[in-house]
Amino acid sequence: MTKSLSKTWLVSIIILMAGITGFFYINHSERPVEIRKITPPKLELKHLGKKILCHRPMRHGSPSFSVNRLGKKYIADNFGHGGSGWTLAPGAAGYVIEVLQREAGSELAKDSEITIVGAGAIGLFTALELVSQGYTNIKIIAEKFDGLTSHNAGGLIAPVSMDNEPELQKVVNKIGIDAYRFFAKVAKGEHPVIKAGAVIVPTYFETREESGLEPYVGVVMQPAKDVTLDFGNGTKRPMIVYDDGIFVDTGLLMQSLRQALEGKVTFKQQKITDFNQIESQFIFNCTGLGARDLSKDDKVVPVQGHLIMLKDQNVQDLQHMILVYFKEGKTKSGFKVKRSFYIFPKKLLGSPQNDVGVIGGTFIEGADETTPNEEEFFIMLQGVKDFYGIK
Ligand SMILES: Cc1cc2nc3c(=O)[nH]c(=O)nc-3n(C[C@H](O)[C@H](O)[C@H](O)COP(=O)(O)OP(=O)(O)OC[C@H]3O[C@@H](n4cnc5c(N)ncnc54)[C@H](O)[C@@H]3O)c2cc1C
Repeated sequence: MTKSLSKTWLVSIIILMAGITGFFYINHSERPVEIRKITPPKLELKHLGKKILCHRPMRHGSPSFSVNRLGKKYIADNFGHGGSGWTLAPGAAGYVIEVLQREAGSELAKDSEITIVGAGAIGLFTALELVSQGYTNIKIIAEKFDGLTSHNAGGLIAPVSMDNEPELQKVVNKIGIDAYRFFAKVAKGEHPVIKAGAVIVPTYFETREESGLEPYVGVVMQPAKDVTLDFGNGTKRPMIVYDDGIFVDTGLLMQSLRQALEGKVTFKQQKITDFNQIESQFIFNCTGLGARDLSKDDKVVPVQGHLIMLKDQNVQDLQHMILVYFKEGKTKSGFKVKRSFYIFPKKLLGSPQNDVGVIGGTFIEGADETTPNEEEFFIMLQGVKDFYGIK
């Protein structure tokens, strides 16, 4: 009798505990999703500024991080980062320098003459890393120093518009995570040299997979949350958000990098058509799209992008980033186009305080300056309005 009573008690306790667990589980899964109110940007004609057309230097297979020999010279590649040049730049610089150090061994001394070809984000970060490691004899040679893709880029720190072989993705992730650490230091005011140009802002995507940031979660980033964006005009969208996303103000950061290098490296304007024009034994090839000709690498292709700067906005309404992809289509000129909508709090250097925000964008592989696909600016603007539910 006592035995069967205690058995009944035991069963009742198990059922009760299962019930409690189930209750919490159901309650948890039904917890209302956080609603965040976002005021759409002003998109009337008078609020649209400069239209920017530029080209991502994408390399099929992965960016090139290899070191090659040309007689006695060592040529260290650091090009082909696609739509993720900023996302990878500080990490890629450290990675390629390490590969060169391994290959060159004791031939590479702190006072060896080193030439970096290219003065975009990749070239400047390579120089900054070399300087911070104590190298003293560095020259940067570039055909152009201003108005580069690196100045024009949007500024989202997330790996997009690359075409990496699966086995190389691990390396790219490691480089991206190192780069995130660099920008997080800048954003928190903890970097010893670079004091401005990166901020931490909520960053919204439609899915975790599309962000490319999942490999960063648990290493340098917090998990994304499900949220509903409410634009206050009847339009709401389910999204996910990384509250520790990073925006880099590309123009400002290019200026900060240049200032940090002034007096520590020499700069020379010249187009290089053959590495034999350079006397240094150690050369970094940071020429972006230029690597197609200079390294005769036909895996490097332009991926055209369209951006429109915004004018006279409410600055406090734009302290976030959004990226969503639309369906693929074809441009009038016959190129395959991956259309998207993104908005970042970018500013052009020297522009008025309230001229903040950039909207994008297109991904048109193979299109270059000869095919501007001008109508894509209008298609993009309509996509942005549809996203926000603006009539
Ligand atoms: C529309 C758009 C939006 C983007 N948004 C983002 C973003 O949000 N986040 C992100 O991470 N990335 C973004 N990117 C990608 C990023 O801008 C690029 O990956 C990055 O700027 C590439 O830097 P780079 O230094 O390799 O090239 P560049 O900035 O193009 O610099 C190349 C340098 O090499 C020099 N050069 C080339 N050939 C020669 C030669 N033969 N001799 C001498 N010098 C030469 C050039 O003069 C220049 O100085 C975007 C790109 C575009 C187009």
